[in-house]
Amino acid sequence: MRIGIIGCGVAGQAAAIALSRAGHAVDVFERFATARPLGAGLLLQPSGLAVLERLGLRQAAESFGAPVHRIDGRIPSGRCVFDLRYPQGQHGLGIHRGALFQLLHDAMGAAGAALHLDFEVESIDALARPIVVSKAGKREGPFDLLIDCAGAHDRLRDGLGLKVRAPLYPWGALWTACPDRDGGFAGTLHQMYKRAHTMMGILPIGRRPGGDEQLVAFFWSLKLEDFEAQRAAGLDVLKQRALDVWPEAGPIVREIERFEDFSLASYRDVSIRPYRKGRVLVIGDAAHGTSPQLGQGANLALIDALMLAYHLTDEDTDRALAAFERARKPHVDFYRLASRGLTPMFQSDGVFLPWARDTFLRGANWLPAGRHVMGTTLSGTRKLPLGLWRPPPSRD
Ligand SMILES: Cc1cc2nc3c(=O)[nH]c(=O)nc-3n(C[C@H](O)[C@H](O)[C@H](O)COP(=O)(O)OP(=O)(O)OC[C@H]3O[C@@H](n4cnc5c(N)ncnc54)[C@H](O)[C@@H]3O)c2cc1C
Repeated sequence: MRIGIIGCGVAGQAAAIALSRAGHAVDVFERFATARPLGAGLLLQPSGLAVLERLGLRQAAESFGAPVHRIDGRIPSGRCVFDLRYPQGQHGLGIHRGALFQLLHDAMGAAGAALHLDFEVESIDALARPIVVSKAGKREGPFDLLIDCAGAHDRLRDGLGLKVRAPLYPWGALWTACPDRDGGFAGTLHQMYKRAHTMMGILPIGRRPGGDEQLVAFFWSLKLEDFEAQRAAGLDVLKQRALDVWPEAGPIVREIERFEDFSLASYRDVSIRPYRKGRVLVIGDAAHGTSPQLGQGANLALIDALMLAYHLTDEDTDRALAAFERARKPHVDFYRLASRGLTPMFQSDGVFLPWARDTFLRGANWLPAGRHVMGTTLSGTRKLPLGLWRPPPSRD
């Protein structure tokens, strides 16, 4: 088939690799003049690592990234309120966004996908044999299948006639990458909470492409409406607030040199029904963006790509797309709903929900069944109503 992909993020790149390797002719359209990742780093879960393994990229990812074995959430008294571990034998991988981007980008080029930069898709014509139209009026297509991977803030999905809900979360986060000079934060995603109005974390992310230094991503939660005030107050105020709550983070916080080193991330709670109209399919954050609380978005995007290539081996494309949607919905819906429910426990002005977090999530850890549910949730494999996602059989 001739397949068009809008967006060169995790979903677009992974789909381009899997589909080009399956023998399709793939064109990727990216609005930026230079393809680049945004933000500091992310946590790949065992589910996403299984996809990278299938794409032959896991070893390279592990050589860049840093293993993460648990999440350790504390309150300022030092009490651990959240100790989340992966199921036995599994681990996550913190990775610099630039490193993941580079891996996927190189593999995409090697697989033969054509990348069209500086091509912001303004509209999609003829949904049965779609054509993309750029902001500058350039037309490309028609495609046998067009995949919208334009991310959580995608505007194109609104024109497809699907049922779309994508409210912006009122809270976002500032992110930056810093060196972890003595390796004091290795192995664990550390988080510190003061109720849910103050939250910050440190995630080991390994090294950036071309670098040797071990890095961590530092993140600071804030209400989007407070961003300008925070910037005006300046970096020193932010650092002092962080250190007042979490003095042990000093070796990392003191490394941040300029407020401009932060990128501001905002996120949406996206749901879309169905995932396609005619021959336009929506995947990745554009279809199921969540808050990053559970660290699953990039993993879900990688899985979308793998599952799509798997189902498209069926020669009946409509049947393949219907099977893809049936297969993805129970998995994606679990994380969408869990993330919607959990986010106010970590980012809100409330009192009750952070109390419930410190009481029940901690309590759940003491029970083997609770540990199992929380561990498999973290590993990125849970589905609704029950059951676990597993990679499909290889068709190589
Ligand atoms: C602060 C933060 C922390 C996160 N941490 C984690 C984590 O630890 N683990 C995890 O798994 N996930 C995490 N995520 C989520 C993860 O980043 C996303 O789920 C993932 O990047 C989604 O990939 P995507 O390809 O669907 O979208 P994106 O990565 O957003 O890519 C969309 C691409 O489409 C392009 N585009 C948009 N519109 C157009 C257009 N009209 N024409 C052409 N191109 C267009 C954009 O420029 C972009 O390149 C985090 C997210 C945030 C915000």
